[in-house]
Amino acid sequence: MTALRVIPLGGLGEIGLNVLVLEYGEAAIAVDCGVMFPDERMLGIDVVIPDLGYVRGLGERFQAIVLTHAHEDHIGALPYALAERAVPVYGTPLTLGFVRERLRERGLSAPLLSYGTEPCRIGPFVVEPIAMTHSIPDSVGLAIRTPVGTVVHTGDFKIDQTPLDGRLPDLVRLGELGAEGVLLLLSDSTNVEHAGVTPSERCVGAELATIFRQSTGRILVTTFSSHIHRMQQVIDLAVRFRRRVAFVGRSLGVHAAVARDLGHLAIPDGALVDPGAARDLPRDQVVLITAGSQAEAASALVRIAMDAHKQVTLDPGDVVILSSRIIPGNERAISSLVNHLYRRGAVVHYGRTSAVHVSGHASQEELKLVMNLVRPRHFVPVHGEYRHLVRHNLLAMEVGIPAEACHLLENGDVLELDAAGGARRGERVPAGRVFVDGKGIGDVEDEVLRDRRHLSEDGLVLAVLAIAQQSGEIVAGPDLVSRGVMGEEANPDILERARGAVLEALAAINPESRTDPAEVKEEVRKALRRYFKRFDRRPVILPFVMEM
Ligand SMILES: [Zn+2]
Repeated sequence: MTALRVIPLGGLGEIGLNVLVLEYGEAAIAVDCGVMFPDERMLGIDVVIPDLGYVRGLGERFQAIVLTHAHEDHIGALPYALAERAVPVYGTPLTLGFVRERLRERGLSAPLLSYGTEPCRIGPFVVEPIAMTHSIPDSVGLAIRTPVGTVVHTGDFKIDQTPLDGRLPDLVRLGELGAEGVLLLLSDSTNVEHAGVTPSERCVGAELATIFRQSTGRILVTTFSSHIHRMQQVIDLAVRFRRRVAFVGRSLGVHAAVARDLGHLAIPDGALVDPGAARDLPRDQVVLITAGSQAEAASALVRIAMDAHKQVTLDPGDVVILSSRIIPGNERAISSLVNHLYRRGAVVHYGRTSAVHVSGHASQEELKLVMNLVRPRHFVPVHGEYRHLVRHNLLAMEVGIPAEACHLLENGDVLELDAAGGARRGERVPAGRVFVDGKGIGDVEDEVLRDRRHLSEDGLVLAVLAIAQQSGEIVAGPDLVSRGVMGEEANPDILERARGAVLEALAAINPESRTDPAEVKEEVRKALRRYFKRFDRRPVILPFVMEM
């Protein structure tokens, strides 16, 4: 008896890298294909993609990628997968719009097919999209009919009863599928630790309206560039309070244009103005939507906060709204950003001080509702760290799904389901993370190997300095020590000149940036990289910046 093989290759045991393979006989498809952004321990890594070796091994049997929505952690690895084999990609129009933009940037193409009104047949699989609400429009869950039974994958979702675009999550369809019988439910675990219900996106609008009403200066709002409904609320408020809107940041503009073309973002004529022109408008007639919600280095908002942006300056009384969640790992950068915004005299609204953001993921009551509608024979929690998956299984048992039907899978695990409803584990397949560094994909096996190689080939330069916390003055150093770079004993003046280059670089940045150890570190690293490049050397550079 042929079994359906359910194989997560990413996203189970981590946030991001979502990709799940369904395999039956001689055919296989993948649901989503996402990336993860490197954390600060992954030195020099640009992006992390899932190990797709198993998919590669399927060869011709691998037939399509079906998408749930256009977040990076669901579509970001598509260019890597499609560069190897350009299989058809299915998605909703907005999802495909964002994918098309992404592929165009990379000079890639693949057949992009919109889910029609009829379910799409891909080998033995019949895929039907189910409307869901999430922090990006046009999101869907999927009902995938297979020869052994129906699989329902929620995608990322929350149940927003008052979605901004009026497109409700299709609970009726989920219930119908449940009544017909569902073999397996795969559900989003991201917010499983949150009790109750995630508030509607509209709640943010009410909070923003209050802020708009009270503001007499410029208003800056930062959010994820794909959060079209958040953008829409800001634009609507701008119109209501007679302000013009400018986008500051390239990806914001690109996403807004795609969404507008496809009818997901309404911008009245005359509402938009470019950032340069916005500078000349009265302060109480401007809203700037800026990139940089995670305080990414060199992003628009970070530059603005440092008073180093070409087109935008902040004056006392201007209002800055951080309308996004803080991704774990970015806390320090964001609190530093908020400090700098306050130094500019801005009024800052962010997660901890007001309700200017709501999550796009379902809390416990919504997760339970979906389980009760779908009433699956088997349950697999997806999209979450290990603890999220464990808690999601406990929740499933609470609503009466038997413990033996709740499967805790990790990346590379294989769950085999048969037509009689039986489940067993297959032999594990390779799964893991591949680091992308510049043009190298997977040539970096992991951080340790990379550092070892780098150190062994290029040596190490250590730079130690101390800065005064308030003034940014250099109070000690920079002291440089190197090992294995270029015969320091024979060339004592090389390090002395490197020290000069560091001092010069630090003198050139604005004093306020010098109070931020992360900025100083980055400047020191850049200056030394430049300096040693003259000798065609690329040592590992380790700056240590102490605050006094
Ligand atoms: Zn998402």
